Amino acid sequence: MKAMNPPLARRRPGSAFTLIEVMIVVAIIGIIVGIAAPAWIRARSQSRMKTCQENLQKIDQSKEQWALANNKKPGSTPAQSDLVDPGAGTGYLKSFPTEPSGGNYVIKPVGEDSECDTTFPGHSLAEVGLVITDIEPSS
Ligand SMILES: [Zn+2]
Repeated sequence: MKAMNPPLARRRPGSAFTLIEVMIVVAIIGIIVGIAAPAWIRARSQSRMKTCQENLQKIDQSKEQWALANNKKPGSTPAQSDLVDPGAGTGYLKSFPTEPSGGNYVIKPVGEDSECDTTFPGHSLAEVGLVITDIEPSS
């Protein structure tokens, strides 16, 4: 009796895919990952940069509030503990921001922009609006 479905009849029993079919699928997955990974890493770098800039803006805004409330002149520098609310409603930040790339923030004197101590591009208030085109080195 002749088989009703010739392609299925030629397959060996117990073998769902040939080696060539599996290699083609793996190659396609590799190409997709190769296209998507750099874009994903760039988006992550851009997100960390924007978060860092927003944190720097928060720090500087709280620093200006501290200077106004305590009658400080330009050039005086608050300590981190002067800016963070200890729970009594006397601080200017609920908590000190965490640098998203693992760095630290340096509080500069009143009248100057505070800084991030990482060397990643865009991690400063002078570079607000920068678009990341290079991939951030692994951190
Ligand atoms: Zn930063």
